[in-house]
Amino acid sequence: MTEIRTDVLIVGASLAGAAAAKRTVDAGLHTVMIERKELPRHKICSGILSPRGYRFLQENFGEPPENAFHTPKWVTGVNFLFPNGLQLRMPFIPGPTPHIYRKFADHHVVKQSRAEIHERTEFRGIEPGAKDVLVRARRTGADAGSEEIVYRAKYVIAADGPRSEVVAKLYPTFRDSIYWFVVGQKYYKAELSLDPRWFHFTINSQLGYYTWSHEENGCQIVGYTDEHGEPWPRGHAKAVAYFEQHHGMRIREEVFKEGCLENFGMSLTNNFVFGKERVLVTGQAAGFLNMMAEGMSCAMHSGAIAGESIVESFTRNRGANQVYDELIQSERTRTVDQWNPLKILFDNPHEADLKAAIRKLPLSDRTYMVRQMLAYIGQFRGYSWLKPILSASARRLFLGRY
Ligand SMILES: Cc1cc2nc3c(=O)[nH]c(=O)nc-3n(C[C@H](O)[C@H](O)[C@H](O)COP(=O)(O)OP(=O)(O)OC[C@H]3O[C@@H](n4cnc5c(N)ncnc54)[C@H](O)[C@@H]3O)c2cc1C
Repeated sequence: MTEIRTDVLIVGASLAGAAAAKRTVDAGLHTVMIERKELPRHKICSGILSPRGYRFLQENFGEPPENAFHTPKWVTGVNFLFPNGLQLRMPFIPGPTPHIYRKFADHHVVKQSRAEIHERTEFRGIEPGAKDVLVRARRTGADAGSEEIVYRAKYVIAADGPRSEVVAKLYPTFRDSIYWFVVGQKYYKAELSLDPRWFHFTINSQLGYYTWSHEENGCQIVGYTDEHGEPWPRGHAKAVAYFEQHHGMRIREEVFKEGCLENFGMSLTNNFVFGKERVLVTGQAAGFLNMMAEGMSCAMHSGAIAGESIVESFTRNRGANQVYDELIQSERTRTVDQWNPLKILFDNPHEADLKAAIRKLPLSDRTYMVRQMLAYIGQFRGYSWLKPILSASARRLFLGRY
């Protein structure tokens, strides 16, 4: 058995982990990042990095190399598609934003963080203690032996994404307490009459929770989301039929398909897990996800806050969990605001202006769209989300925070 000692151990070499490492390494803390896959690794993602996420990435890690972008390289905004064919275009503010290739963009930020990377190393177990945390891991891949690796770290950051094993170990009942969704996307060689510079999202109560299409490197992607229970979203063929009927999709070949499970409701219901006992949970593992499944900007910002909290705890002799609970409130507020109905109605919490786009339309179209949006939201009435949403909105209104 090998034992490795470090100041900070980060689980997950992705955006949140790299942002956390950037802060701890810059402060002179020895930082090891473990990643179960070999790098650069594939990551299912549309790759639309919001303007705020792009600014963070450039400022902290520098401009990514050319291979870290897809074609088209720039995305103008989000286009809502309604059942009768109407489209509602919302350009990003202040302008088009990059379409990144996660495999190489993530590798770029991970390298730039200057953490010591242990790839093909999978987190297996955790034992928090009074002075340090013990993490058990094992090597993955064809040539991996059965040897266990033990890390002893003063602090651990869990940045291992939506199906976080660290969260599952720290809070054994948590996974069963939230809703899980299965997302599936297929890549097609196809023609489509929609503009490739936009991300197209359906507002259509007949097409499920999260149905989209966008172009990537000459392929047209169609994605669909269902409740967890099936290995592949059952409604996917319905989504393809919709794009064929309404937007001129003509498929020549199916190239590739992939899917995953997602924890969509945590930010919506203000239900985060930030960790305990020298373990800080961040990124999507903590529940950060903006509207339209935009999770990269909040992953990086929350990751940086986790790293800063540890630096602060070393320099000021305060518990990092306590510091993190305080500092993370800014990102929590920003993220939950995106889902807060009062903020959506009376403010503009997104990086595109929904209300300004609606105001440009004739009155009859506006009425139709608002009706369709309400029908779309109505699909979620079976979930026990209304109470936490109202309670979060009331807290924000009366206390100014969540
Ligand atoms: C279909 C789809 C499309 C999306 N499109 C967009 C988009 O266009 N724009 C956007 O902003 N967001 C998008 N998202 C969301 C975005 O991908 C995530 O929110 C974001 O990647 C979260 O970053 P993270 O660093 O928290 O975690 P992740 O990026 O999930 O990284 C977690 C890392 O931890 C590693 N890991 C996991 N378990 C272990 C373990 N046991 N041991 C060691 N390592 C482990 C993983 O391999 C991975 O490298 C999309 C998501 C999906 C599913």
